[in-house]
Amino acid sequence: CAAAVYIVRRRMQSSEKWARVIQILKAFEEDCATPIGKLRQVADAMTVEMHAGLASEGGSKLKMLISYVDNLPSGDENGIFYALDLGGTNFRVMRFLLGGKEGGVVKREFKEVSIPPPLMTGKSDELFDFIAGVLAEFVATEGDDFRLPPGRQRELGFTFSFPVKQTSLSSGTLINWTKGFHIEDTIGQDVVGELIKAMERVGVDMRVAALVNDTIGTLAGGRFDNPDVVAAVILGTGTNAAYVERAQAIPKWHGLLPKSGEMVINMEWGNFRSSHLPLTEYDHSLDFESLNPGEQILEKIISGMYLGEILRRVLLKMAEEAAFFGDTVPPKLKIPFIIRTPNMSAMHSDTSPDLKVVGSKLKDILEVPTSSLKMRKVVVSLCNIITTRGARLSAAGIYGILKKLGRDATKDGEAQRSVIAMDGGLFEHYTQFSESMKSSLNELLGDEVSESVEVILSNDGSGIGAALLAASHSQYLQLEDT
Ligand code: BGC
Ligand code: MG
Repeated sequence: CAAAVYIVRRRMQSSEKWARVIQILKAFEEDCATPIGKLRQVADAMTVEMHAGLASEGGSKLKMLISYVDNLPSGDENGIFYALDLGGTNFRVMRFLLGGKEGGVVKREFKEVSIPPPLMTGKSDELFDFIAGVLAEFVATEGDDFRLPPGRQRELGFTFSFPVKQTSLSSGTLINWTKGFHIEDTIGQDVVGELIKAMERVGVDMRVAALVNDTIGTLAGGRFDNPDVVAAVILGTGTNAAYVERAQAIPKWHGLLPKSGEMVINMEWGNFRSSHLPLTEYDHSLDFESLNPGEQILEKIISGMYLGEILRRVLLKMAEEAAFFGDTVPPKLKIPFIIRTPNMSAMHSDTSPDLKVVGSKLKDILEVPTSSLKMRKVVVSLCNIITTRGARLSAAGIYGILKKLGRDATKDGEAQRSVIAMDGGLFEHYTQFSESMKSSLNELLGDEVSESVEVILSNDGSGIGAALLAASHSQYLQLEDT
């Protein structure tokens, strides 16, 4: 009799278990919903915050940082320039031989290393010594094509992809770290000063001609190839956007009005938040346990660093409350950030009838020995819900920028051509994400206007852009001109 009771209980548990799995799935799907009306609200809130951030310092969660870039590359840039790119999981050093209008980028060389994780949360000097060390090794491999005339100092564009309050084109203080970085003693420091001190310690002599955010670099690199580029968006480890603003539309700018009448703005849109954002319990706990609670809320639901982590959190709830993976919770599932977004993308794109990629990822990453097709389908649905929300919200952000620029509608019956330069691994490699982003943007713009708006991948635009800006701000320029 005891055995019979036990069997009945087990059976009930198994059907209840599935009911509970589906319940968690459905609730999550509802909480993540982004109907077109909501996207329009988000876009409108974005333009409102853009105005507020431009009006006064600290006027909005959107920092709307002044980049000091008031002239984008003309195409005439020429000579030899170095670039550094620090921002995601990798660090790159590059050198470019620029050949002006005729030659474009004649030659490029680069070296890429991953940043040892302890350096991302350690001491400022350690991080900058590492960077300067890699730069020194790279300089040592300089061949004849990159030899400068004797006595000429090497010049560098520094792409530093964190919120910086610029004090000039080539200096600025770090406001706060984002993504996986958290180094207390860099905050409030001039990051160019930190770099120069480290270069001195390792014996590299180089002038830092420009300090730029990756969005600004991408905008500059994109404009070099295409004069219709009006904005740049990064969808990678983190997310952000930059665009060209009329200087007169920036009340908080008290400097001289630039000759061009324009100023490039680094929005820092990753820090956007609004009551219209569809946030779930998983987002709240992810934020709470993050290195920067309360900050970068949009980034935490859109960008590559977090999508896989959101998936892990939902699966953990299913494991704990609905025995999704059986009677025990897989220990690996309790490790934050164990599911990386590229793995999520691989599962999401699995087209095999038995979803074998999903099965093998669950085995490799979570050490779940077997999984049913039903389970694998749930995993794919979760990937789809998370990615669709992120992609549609990034489209709403872009639509918000186009609205701010008055490029969301035809002007005197004519559509103005607007190109958005995109970069970042999420956009480049996660096809479902980029496709959903593009179709949502078209949906927001409508048939007529969407014809004249183009989203292009500006691969490695930020590295080239930093070198181009270093070139147009070279200390030798005036000398050569006169
Ligand atoms: C940073 C931005 C950067 C973006 C993309 C964000 O976390 O705050 O400065 O542009 O990531 O790299
Ligand atoms: Mg990058």
